[in-house]
Amino acid sequence: MSKERIRHDRSVKGIEKALETLVLGKPELDGIVTAFGPLLLAKAAFKEECPLPESFKTESLSLDQARFSQGEPVFASLGMMDFQDDFKRVVPRLLPPMKDAFVGIREDLEKIEKGFSTHGIDTHECVRAFLNDQQQVLEKQAAQIGASLPVFQFVLGQLVKPFMEMQAAVLGPLTEGLQWLHGYCPVCGSHAAIAGLAGEGGKRWLQCAHCNHEWRFNRHTCPRCNDSDHSKHEYFFDENSPVKAGERVDVCNECRSYLLTMDLRERIDPVNMDVAAMGMMPLDILAQQKGYTPLVSTPWNSVT
Ligand SMILES: [Zn+2]
Ligand SMILES: [Zn+2]
Repeated sequence: MSKERIRHDRSVKGIEKALETLVLGKPELDGIVTAFGPLLLAKAAFKEECPLPESFKTESLSLDQARFSQGEPVFASLGMMDFQDDFKRVVPRLLPPMKDAFVGIREDLEKIEKGFSTHGIDTHECVRAFLNDQQQVLEKQAAQIGASLPVFQFVLGQLVKPFMEMQAAVLGPLTEGLQWLHGYCPVCGSHAAIAGLAGEGGKRWLQCAHCNHEWRFNRHTCPRCNDSDHSKHEYFFDENSPVKAGERVDVCNECRSYLLTMDLRERIDPVNMDVAAMGMMPLDILAQQKGYTPLVSTPWNSVT
């Protein structure tokens, strides 16, 4: 019997197993797994070693349901718990595997790493500016250390991600049972990196690229432009993939966006959707070659 929801395994062990299985099934992705696997593992290990304090619970928090029903994500109304002190600990954990994974921007990554370790970057100011999208502050900080702004923003996104994921895991349940008909994440407001089909008839769950929260979204509506005209939607899959159309890319010809989608209805074991998205990189390439753009940039779809 298929499950109604996606069953995840986000542990270090689960990721190790998923990476091994990926290489066995798709040996041609060995290089990608070797390059990017350590970053996923480092992120998961950091979360296991530096969990949120016990005091961070939802009992004392109440979500403004009126604002939520008007499309305001949870982080926008409740804010995020301050994670500045732990942020200093994530930098040395994630920057080394990022330097190995993203060799094309290694020089910038080294400048950023040095900026953090020598206090050339004001950590508090830059995290605040990143979360509040204050472009001018970020521009100033990037210029100070001589790094490119897009790379600086990408790195900050990766460094902030484990905190967003941990806080979303606690705050996400506040949205249970509430209606959310938007294509962006009800917790943090970002877009999905990947979707999974689960349960009777294949209900679609979108997984947020930034906080990993997942939410139900109509299978026949485009999450970017809300178009639901079937004739404008189609999908492609990799003929060489051992699972064929079980992994596919859904595209919308109205706004030219695409979204990776996994059919998990026949799946027995829990899945790691980050590893799954990495393993679908050939579909990212295919969609981008056809002129479609992802809903959101991820490490996997930006390097294609
Ligand atoms: Zn989110
Ligand atoms: Zn669209």
